[in-house]
Amino acid sequence: MLAAMPLLEVDELQVGFPLPRPRLWAAAPRLRAVAGLSLSLAAGETLGVVGESGCGKSTLLRALLGLETVDAGAIRFDGVDVTHARGAALRTLRRGVQMVFQDPYGSLNPRLRAGQVLEEALRANFKLTAAERLRRTAALLERVGLGPALKDRFPHELSGGQRQRLGIARALAVEPRLLLADEPVSALDVSVQAQIINLFAELRRDLNLACLFIAHDLAVVRHLCDRVAVMYLGRIVETGSAAAVYARPLHPYTRALLAAAPEPVAGKRLARAPLAGEPPSPAAPPPGCPFHPRCPLAVARCRQERPELVPAADAPTHHAACHVTG
Ligand code: SF4
Repeated sequence: MLAAMPLLEVDELQVGFPLPRPRLWAAAPRLRAVAGLSLSLAAGETLGVVGESGCGKSTLLRALLGLETVDAGAIRFDGVDVTHARGAALRTLRRGVQMVFQDPYGSLNPRLRAGQVLEEALRANFKLTAAERLRRTAALLERVGLGPALKDRFPHELSGGQRQRLGIARALAVEPRLLLADEPVSALDVSVQAQIINLFAELRRDLNLACLFIAHDLAVVRHLCDRVAVMYLGRIVETGSAAAVYARPLHPYTRALLAAAPEPVAGKRLARAPLAGEPPSPAAPPPGCPFHPRCPLAVARCRQERPELVPAADAPTHHAACHVTG
């Protein structure tokens, strides 16, 4: 039997930005924010992409929405190449893929009440009667756990958690097949974070929505994601089922992220030291393994040869890019 086609496929994606020329006659160098990244996501699946600030996560999301120019590689959504989508193809992509932002306040029109935010999204995407729009608006508010009394509040009259629920409802109004969630809980209090993560889990269960969930903290995606991809300096350095990555992290960077996470792993803290130092600039990545200046296990080979992402010998769906532990 043929395997189902992935909903989203990213193949060797490269996205860069021009840097100032060092000399007038020199070619402009490029900062490689995403440096040859591949991933796939099935319908209804949740993938957590985790890494520190500046690792290229947000550039990846912007490229998936058609907001960045792709230097090389391909993006396919539902089997259609959307790498350089423009016009009608871009509009179709934007309807199938919706974004949930870290701070929804910046993306909500401060002059619209919560109900109006949703009505606007419905009006822009569907031909509906006014009565049907109101019915759907009420259903969306209920779906995300906002009581009907909040329909007439302006964004500044809502709490951070309520605003994030409204941002999620606005994304759902368009009936997407894929949600891109960019650190959607990192600006919230810890107790509210758990509520929003539970809401994502409910949506996934009830609506069969695929979700690419970006976070800088592995603990946040632990209970939500089917699979995890760990990103460092524009590349994925480890990926596998969430169960496998948390139970037996292979890459020293993943181990350091887990050791630094607030939750103990499988009831005990890992023996590795927490992550030291800052990530190198993507404008001047180190030769060899990009993690070698921070890696406690680095050997001479690591400074010369970049490791490929390869399957673990005993777990073909668990991949890591490390000469020593992979
Ligand atoms: Fe560390 Fe070397 Fe593995 Fe890179 S390849 S993570 S430097 S041990």
